[in-house]
Amino acid sequence: MARRSTIPEASQLTPMLRHYLEVKSAHEDALLFYRMGDFFELFFDDAVDAAPLLEVSLTARHKGSDKEVPMCGVPHHSVQTYIGKALRAGRKVAICEQVEDPKAAKGLVKREVTQVITPGTVVAPELLDGKDANLLGALVWDARAGAGAGAYLDVSTGEFFLRRYPDGDAMVEDLGVIRPREALFEAAELPEAAEAFIRAEVMCVTELEGDRYVDRRRAAEVLREHFSASTLRGFGLEDKEPATDAAAVALEYARATQFSTLDHIQSLAVRRGDDAMVIDATTLANLDVFRNQREGGRRATLISVLDRTVTSPGGRRLKDWLRRPLMIPSAVAERHDAVEELLQQHGLRSEIRDHLEQLGDLERLLSRAVLSSMTPREAAALRDSLRRVPALLDMAGGCQAELLADLADVDRLEDLRERLESLLEDEPTAKLEAGGVIRTGVDEELDRCRSLARDAKKHIASMQEREREQTGISSLKIRYNKVFGYYLEVTKANTHLVPEHYIRKQTLVNAERYVTPEIKELEEDILSAEERQLELERVYFESLRRAVVERGEGLREVASALSILDVLAGFAELAAHRRYCRPSMRALGEPIQISDGRHPVVEASLSGAGASGSGFVPNDIDLDDDARIVILTGPNMGGKSTYLRQVALIVLMAQAGSYVPAASAEIGVVDRIFTRVGASDDLARGESTFMVEMIETANILHHATGESLVILDEVGRGTATFDGMSLAWAIIEHLHSAARPKTLFATHYHELTELAQLLPGVVNRTLAVKEWQDQIVFLRRIVPGAADKSYGLHVARLAGLPSAVIDRAAEVLANLEKQEYDPAGRPRRAEGEGAPAPVPGSEQMALFTPPQELVAQLLRDTDVDQLTPLAALNLIASLKNRLGG
Ligand code: ATP
Repeated sequence: MARRSTIPEASQLTPMLRHYLEVKSAHEDALLFYRMGDFFELFFDDAVDAAPLLEVSLTARHKGSDKEVPMCGVPHHSVQTYIGKALRAGRKVAICEQVEDPKAAKGLVKREVTQVITPGTVVAPELLDGKDANLLGALVWDARAGAGAGAYLDVSTGEFFLRRYPDGDAMVEDLGVIRPREALFEAAELPEAAEAFIRAEVMCVTELEGDRYVDRRRAAEVLREHFSASTLRGFGLEDKEPATDAAAVALEYARATQFSTLDHIQSLAVRRGDDAMVIDATTLANLDVFRNQREGGRRATLISVLDRTVTSPGGRRLKDWLRRPLMIPSAVAERHDAVEELLQQHGLRSEIRDHLEQLGDLERLLSRAVLSSMTPREAAALRDSLRRVPALLDMAGGCQAELLADLADVDRLEDLRERLESLLEDEPTAKLEAGGVIRTGVDEELDRCRSLARDAKKHIASMQEREREQTGISSLKIRYNKVFGYYLEVTKANTHLVPEHYIRKQTLVNAERYVTPEIKELEEDILSAEERQLELERVYFESLRRAVVERGEGLREVASALSILDVLAGFAELAAHRRYCRPSMRALGEPIQISDGRHPVVEASLSGAGASGSGFVPNDIDLDDDARIVILTGPNMGGKSTYLRQVALIVLMAQAGSYVPAASAEIGVVDRIFTRVGASDDLARGESTFMVEMIETANILHHATGESLVILDEVGRGTATFDGMSLAWAIIEHLHSAARPKTLFATHYHELTELAQLLPGVVNRTLAVKEWQDQIVFLRRIVPGAADKSYGLHVARLAGLPSAVIDRAAEVLANLEKQEYDPAGRPRRAEGEGAPAPVPGSEQMALFTPPQELVAQLLRDTDVDQLTPLAALNLIASLKNRLGG
């Protein structure tokens, strides 16, 4: 980025600003927050960039002079809020702290960068969204091998996994599903499409230049060292491959930002595509799984209906299950077994959910401990969570379903809980520096210090009392001043009673002042008590932190077990609330039969927050060898898109482990769900609506298998009618004869329904309507057969098009349907009451060859033996058109 604010000559700068620039040069891509007293200040371009972003005013140092320096600042106590704003705008923040006491400093206060916070590596709970993973992605490409990999790391939980990519498209697709918050890559290296995607879609981008974070030659070594492994083969990795490089880059970058060893990152999984159903980014978007495609946000999404989890790790686990639905029927059935048991045992379910609700985010608490940023309150939250763990594991462990019964064997971490309970105050203060974190009774010395610090006055008073008694001087006083500290004061009249061990310090007109070794000791005790108390509390708290880190593996296991329990109990809750049924799972490629299926999101929106029983009309589907491809026609607004999506969503939900909105369902698992729905321009990437439509369709035709489910909604609509229809026709033929996936195809090209007579696996379904007087009533019922019209004008009227337009359209439609032409060969659609006056001379513009000649020519040109159904259709259509019906 070009520098906009000018930097004065170094000689003109104050030493502080010179130091600032020195620090800044090491953190060019971050906003540098530079601590000055009670503020963090930003200077030069950082100030100019950040002021509007942080919503603070831009000022200047040395205003008006030629040494003017733009500046803005934020108060240190609310710095987190501002860091949050910067991160949300995709910026990184480097925190430069004062690392010595400004009062003790000789000259310039010593300052150092103590933290770099980036969108993909943030760990502070207040800056994270609980139910979302916060992933950093490192992308590496090996041009010679023509393959690449991505390493994805959530520093806040320790989750770390790898994906290998055979081509650039696979990388793009995966990035669209995983959606990292921050991406690291070397621009020169990546395939163009992947780089373009990252730049357009990923909020924060860090380009690696050369070996900035890790020397690639050392990548394998970095990983071996981190995981204390002698070989990477146990991870399924080679020493020299993009995946290894990517993992090392992610790890080293995270380490550089955290200034820490990252001991909580204990595992690295290579996730392969073939162990889960593939659901690509387009499909996640088209089905509104996580995000509402039209309005953004979570409203009316699948996740908004499905997510009944009560913990953040549960929420994250659910998203993971939806991104990677299972493909092995028995594994899916295991989840369903657990949901079934929790559904039946509603008392147990609600007790489990009540307990879960009280839990802290164990994964993130552990990371905070590892990164030394755990606060006393977080330690208490961990302790309180651990108190609930045994009961939760017992409740789940007592169940029959395997996934639940397995929880009986999970480590209850009693030792860690006991340690936290015995050391930590019931309600510790928020900050360790404030004291009051470690319990009384843990350490005598600590107790003494604390009581001294807290009760200094009482100690002095009782010493004064003792001295009065021992000396018999009732007016003896213990006082304090800055010069002597504490001293004993005796009036002149009583000095003869002063014992030998009193040491005289000062003589006044009416009194003498003394000290004793005992009072000096008390004084020192009092003055250092608070310091020592804090030091001791720090030592004990540090030992607690280490204890947490040492039990990291156990904690991760508990966190993972409870997040699964949360999702399963949430599925059961949902099933109870919305009367979902248990789908029975069949092998890959077996039929899909759903009776009385409902669209989970439309149903929920029709019934509001209440139970089911809404106005939603349920429908069946039967996809097997005799009916692999369903061509769905029907009126606009009839419910075609809803039906298509509902089938895909039910399959997705079932394979993720949920019950489904249907009366009954048998689901042959699918390897992939493809969707091509609606029209979406991607003008930013220079692709028109129709281009996007065809790219997505091409992807489906190349990758669908006999075990896939394909949803095509109005493919071919984005171009001229005949082009579109011909393409749609050929696409269906191809799907029918080549890949043979189960396919639902919604269309307004009623001609396509003829395919059902030509191809054995194709059936027609339509949405029933009732015509009544001039109105039509949508019944929303799927019935066998084909629609002969789309009622587009009716819907246009409902949408409020002016009635003059509707009436005129009705005239044109009538003419078109009659396919009439006037004697001059002019299409009659131009006629009618609403027709504009003809352009003078246009009578001569006979556009069409006389009919007899045309027929003769067509017969000459057509090889009847070679006539394919598509060519026949085209021929008939063009004849109809030209001959006027
Ligand atoms: P178009 O051809 O114009 O795109 P469509 O046939 O795809 O229309 P949908 O968008 O699926 O129609 O449905 C239109 C509206 O009808 C939906 O927004 C929904 O509110 C309602 N609807 C659809 N299916 C049902 C159903 N089974 N029960 C009740 N309401 C439904």
